[in-house]
Amino acid sequence: MSMNLILMGLPGAGKGTQAESIIKNYGIPHISTGDIFRAAIKNQTEMGLKAKQYIDKGNLVPDDVTCGIVKDRLSKDDTKEGYMLDGFPRTIDQANALQEICKELGRPLDAVINIDVDPKVLVDRLSGRFICKDCGATYHKLYKMPKVENTCDICGGHEFYQRSDDKPETVKNRLDVNIKMNTPLVDFYKERNLLFTVDGSQDIDDVTKDIDKILKDFK
Ligand code: ADP
Ligand code: ADP
Ligand code: ZN
Repeated sequence: MSMNLILMGLPGAGKGTQAESIIKNYGIPHISTGDIFRAAIKNQTEMGLKAKQYIDKGNLVPDDVTCGIVKDRLSKDDTKEGYMLDGFPRTIDQANALQEICKELGRPLDAVINIDVDPKVLVDRLSGRFICKDCGATYHKLYKMPKVENTCDICGGHEFYQRSDDKPETVKNRLDVNIKMNTPLVDFYKERNLLFTVDGSQDIDDVTKDIDKILKDFK
């Protein structure tokens, strides 16, 4: 059986955090368009420089760029046994493009995990988020501190940073942009009987347990 997944949820809902557990438990590759963009910006590639203009304002990167990246990534061999998309699709056009890509590659979607959180708590989640410089693991100054002070749980690294788009000026526009797109996307996958919604306002471990219950059936 395959395990071809989408992790869906507004910025700050917990996609990256839950992806860490899914990788650990199921070993499928985690494909985050945001991570791909941030790596491209860091390496100052042409694509990265283009994407940066949008990301810095909290707007979406244009679909032609984003869909191309996802198609390239899903074409690699390591997605044969499954994959987990995070942060893609974010628009109906992207969802339609993904249907085509999946068909072409013979890698159809099995489930969309929708991490549902009241937008009111998201500003708080995003403004407290910080990230390991070495491995990208995600922490929160109130809800998920490293077990050993100033030391990454995953890789032992000691350097952390805050994402530039998690600053209050950008967060508000990012949430507005994404909230507007979210309902039609949820409906898109509901209509196709692929949607599984979990309550993302619970503690991190309880959200993980709920996701596990869903994924057990696909393994
Ligand atoms: P996303 O990838 O959906 O934007 P993250 O996984 O990066 O979200 O989570 C956003 C912030 O909220 C991070 O700082 C993370 O540590 C924290 N967080 C994630 N899940 C929860 C949760 N269930 N309860 C409290 N804080 C959480
Ligand atoms: P979040 O924590 O907001 O879920 P991501 O890391 O997924 O953040 O995305 C960061 C930024 O990268 C987004 O605000 C957007 O500018 C860009 N981005 C990521 N995924 C997409 C996508 N599927 N379509 C367009 N832009 C995207
Ligand atoms: Zn780390």
